[in-house]
Amino acid sequence: MNNCKIVLPEYVAKLLEHLDSKGCTGYLVGGCVRDALMGLPPQDYDIAAAASPEKLKRAFDGYRIVDTGARFGTLTVLVQEHSVEITSFRRDGTYTDGRHPDKVEFTNSLTEDLARRDFTVNAMAYRPDTGLIDPFHGKEALRHGILACVGDPYTRFSEDALRILRAMRFCSVLGFTADSRLVAAADKCSPLLHEISVQRIYSELVKFLCGKHVARVMRQFVKPLCTVIPPLEKAVGFDQKNPHHIYTVYDHIAATVEACPPRQLLRLTMLLHDIAKPYVMTEDANGVRHFRGHQERGAQMARQVLTDLGCDKRTIEKVCRLIRWHDLRPAADRISIHRYLLQVGYKDALLLTQIRRADLSAQAPAYHDQFSQIDATEKMIRLLQEEGAPADVSGLAVNGVDLIGIGIRPGPQIGCLLASLLDAVANGEVKNEKHALLQKAVTLQT
Ligand code: ATP
Ligand code: MG
Repeated sequence: MNNCKIVLPEYVAKLLEHLDSKGCTGYLVGGCVRDALMGLPPQDYDIAAAASPEKLKRAFDGYRIVDTGARFGTLTVLVQEHSVEITSFRRDGTYTDGRHPDKVEFTNSLTEDLARRDFTVNAMAYRPDTGLIDPFHGKEALRHGILACVGDPYTRFSEDALRILRAMRFCSVLGFTADSRLVAAADKCSPLLHEISVQRIYSELVKFLCGKHVARVMRQFVKPLCTVIPPLEKAVGFDQKNPHHIYTVYDHIAATVEACPPRQLLRLTMLLHDIAKPYVMTEDANGVRHFRGHQERGAQMARQVLTDLGCDKRTIEKVCRLIRWHDLRPAADRISIHRYLLQVGYKDALLLTQIRRADLSAQAPAYHDQFSQIDATEKMIRLLQEEGAPADVSGLAVNGVDLIGIGIRPGPQIGCLLASLLDAVANGEVKNEKHALLQKAVTLQT
């Protein structure tokens, strides 16, 4: 046995013992081995077993199982609150559609099973009694932080182009440097991404975007990214020729994605926030470029991009709103911020401060004094929030019934009156207190 030892949770060790007792030798494979060797807590445990799918199923008779992947020999076993995927050793047949093997064959060879896996760091297996099994030198690659395909990258990406996005994701999230042959093959095989379902693309894309190293990877894998987000292509190398900017639109976008907190919503917003710039650009007599209306146009383009990627409606609406508003710069005084809150609401206002910081950090340093303005804006938003300042009519200390109670006729004018009261509160003309508001309502009526 080699000297590699991975500490396993008890339920995993028990599953391996159970497999042994049924004559099916099981090995931990894939991401959990990789993560454990990197000192990271594995997200989930996958097991590959030397047993046919039927034998596996019999071995787990009486267990809670889901056999959604039965066709591919995968069984999901539910133990306590965990689910573990157990897959028969497999060898993939030829791929003619760039997505799925034409047929899946089961094999007794662990090495063959590891050979069908995407990257060398994902093609290691482990058992407590045998230690690490690493025919493709994944551990060495891990030590050097290198992501390389198992076998010829061009062949592997031609078989399943999703692997290109998986490569980008592993580099972005785990900080690997992609091997140069992998990068070249990813570039060449990018058009095959058109064959991949948008659900698979979207799910990899958002994980990729949330990685710590996303900017570097965006700059390295320009073609695959522009293949899944076609309007991004014009941003590549697009000189902004504007004193605020030191980067091309694409490089600015890449820097802003990485600069904002790793939340899907924010990172999608940054990815698409300036997408319309090359489409609306005008150049003045001094050769300075302007991008009037890129916020609104960007929101429209983002809607199309996200719809095409099968993104859920709620996320689309939120991203589009944030893009439309990403350049709003209210003054930080109480009245300006309260008025701003009536437009965008508290939740978006706070998100927009994070977006503005990320945006500013990727602009010319000469303008970085604006960070203090953003800080002041955030401070005022939080102060108003603490005070319970209303951002919409539901936060007013009076409602329609109160207004009717003082003799105002029911009907649409009630809504208008509440909106006017809200305005008056935001403008500092009246306090958000019942008595004061009712008095104000009377004066507004006459
Ligand atoms: P994580 O769970 O952290 O996202 P992972 O490496 O475990 O990463 P999974 O999608 O859970 O990724 O896949 C488990 C393993 O299956 C991988 O480590 C890899 O060995 C193999 N694998 C997954 N998808 C592919 C693919 N498209 N082509 C080849 N092998 C794959
Ligand atoms: Mg996994």
